[in-house]
Amino acid sequence: MASRHVALFPLPFQGHLSPMLQLADVLHGRGLAITILHTTFNAPDTAAHPEFAFVAVADGGMPDAKDGLGKILAMNDAMEASGCVRDALAALEPRPACLVSDSTLPAAQKAAAELGMPTVLLHTGSAAAVRLFRSYAMLHDKGYLPAQEHELDRPVRELPPIRVSDLFDPSKYPNRETANKVLDMTTDITNNSSGIVINTLDALETPELEAIRDELGASGVGVFAIGPLHKLSTIGGASSSLLEADRSCIEWLDAQAAGSVLYVSFGSVAPVRREDLDEVAWGLANSGRPFLWVVRRGLVVGSGSEDTELPEGFERVAEGRGKVVRWAPQQEVLAHRAVGGFWTHSGWNSTLEGICEGVPMLCRPFFGDQLANGRYVEEVWRTGALLVGKLERSMVEEAIARFMEGEDGAAMRERAKELQMKAMEALGNAGSTQLAVDKLVDHILSL
Ligand code: UDP
Repeated sequence: MASRHVALFPLPFQGHLSPMLQLADVLHGRGLAITILHTTFNAPDTAAHPEFAFVAVADGGMPDAKDGLGKILAMNDAMEASGCVRDALAALEPRPACLVSDSTLPAAQKAAAELGMPTVLLHTGSAAAVRLFRSYAMLHDKGYLPAQEHELDRPVRELPPIRVSDLFDPSKYPNRETANKVLDMTTDITNNSSGIVINTLDALETPELEAIRDELGASGVGVFAIGPLHKLSTIGGASSSLLEADRSCIEWLDAQAAGSVLYVSFGSVAPVRREDLDEVAWGLANSGRPFLWVVRRGLVVGSGSEDTELPEGFERVAEGRGKVVRWAPQQEVLAHRAVGGFWTHSGWNSTLEGICEGVPMLCRPFFGDQLANGRYVEEVWRTGALLVGKLERSMVEEAIARFMEGEDGAAMRERAKELQMKAMEALGNAGSTQLAVDKLVDHILSL
């Protein structure tokens, strides 16, 4: 008889951990027993999830690696060398039907394969990002990469609406070899899986999902679009958050007028240059509009986990109008009636959360898939605008005014509400997401 037990292994970063826990919750809701494998680095709050079993595996020095991609490689190397994932999987009773692994952990997939256990992957980015990251050979062959300064506006005809400036270019990354390795890894791991789960929905990315299904379906890899996971699952932001949220901002929002507040957050890992941070701060302060800004520890490039200082005089100018917190209960903030716009770094979770609350987005992507996410918001869903060019306080101020009060902003707001409805439809009875979950559970039970 098919095993009704599933092991899941997230990458230990906020934007990967939350959707994996949410997926675990969805599978648990369909009657599957759950074991979460996790590293000691950024370990989830096990006490918040008594319904799951947890098994810690060694992180092999991962926290010491310099950058995000370096950490991913270090984690994979350590798992392969120690055999700790294979041993942890082999000890599970009853034997899991499969390992659901983050799409950046090929060493976990290899460990499962050694035990004859199939893998299902969770891609925590968009379908467009899955497609894009599988296209690097083509992007190099056709000369889009390495990106040339004079070609940044060139459309990538094979992947509309992506332009050269939206591509993550490994040659510009401080360690090009690391970047190339991670890109190769994600393609291989997808090809070797029995299925992939993408945290997206059909209505958002119909052609992208079709292209992935055409490509992977031929080799028998199932494709399941079961997003938005944070709405499908009962796991709220608080129980999957690695940092404690400052809830005083909700009280502050309660006192603001409907739709008046700009919520500003650059996610959990994006680094901001000191000079850019100052321009953002003064742009917000001088905008004359209410704002709630997440200024997390270590936000400034190279500042480790230090508190982030804001420019002198900022507090005085923003007083009464601006609220700064180290970490916010983001989903609750976005759902608050006072929030009228979201200035985001365009991480995929933040993008989905903005879409689900019908909030228009001002997008300032930093790296990786964020660049493509911002482009989709501006050109495909048209529920927001990209903030491009050198950050200067006056341009920030003008952009905020256009976005929060201009005609363009109003049109984006309207479309954002329409897109929100589509997302909610996918979650309803017989909606595309619910049907995809049925198929995923059948798939797992057939392994
Ligand atoms: N987040 C949060 N509070 C904050 C800032 C972010 O809870 O103050 C959450 C946000 O809701 C999202 C996640 O952190 O679920 C960030 O994921 P995303 O993919 O947007 O960006 P990343 O941090 O991976 O760059």
